[in-house]
Amino acid sequence: MRTVVYPGSFDPITYGHLDIIQRAAKLFDRIVVAIANNDAKRPLFSMNERREMVLKSVAHLPHVEADKLTGLLVDYVRKQGAKAIIRGLRAVSDFEFEFQLALMNRKLDDRVETIFMMPKESYVFLSSRIVKEIARLGGDVSAFVPLHVQKALDRKLAKTR
Ligand code: ADP
Repeated sequence: MRTVVYPGSFDPITYGHLDIIQRAAKLFDRIVVAIANNDAKRPLFSMNERREMVLKSVAHLPHVEADKLTGLLVDYVRKQGAKAIIRGLRAVSDFEFEFQLALMNRKLDDRVETIFMMPKESYVFLSSRIVKEIARLGGDVSAFVPLHVQKALDRKLAKTR
């Protein structure tokens, strides 16, 4: 059984993330979407809300799971019985940070490989941050996130308007 871990904040999950998950699902038997707490990024959604949104979005993919990422990523990967991490690469701007992260993780445990995947062109400029910004300003995010995420954004942001 080939398992891969896809780590990130998923605050919230977007069609960009889903595009990567669907591509990875063709290559691996089991995908663990590992949701990082990332308090420094001040997430809009709680860990549970983010996890629920991931699970709803991947309901059609039986071998995709969602879990809370705890501890060091390389340790978590080994604990899941995985040998690889998936990361999405959008524009060149992702490259420097991702390169640093991948080499650091390799230094920490060289048995864990990082695999980069590119999304469909239309999702190259999509990020959770941009989706939140558009939704906050009352814009239409239906091209970027599933309907249930749109509704969750509306509910969450109605409180801040
Ligand atoms: P974001 O950068 O949108 O806040 P995350 O921290 O959740 O997203 O990112 C998790 C992983 O998903 C990272 O590897 C990131 O590059 C990737 N990713 C995020 N959005 C996209 C997208 N639109 N296309 C491809 N990969 C993406």
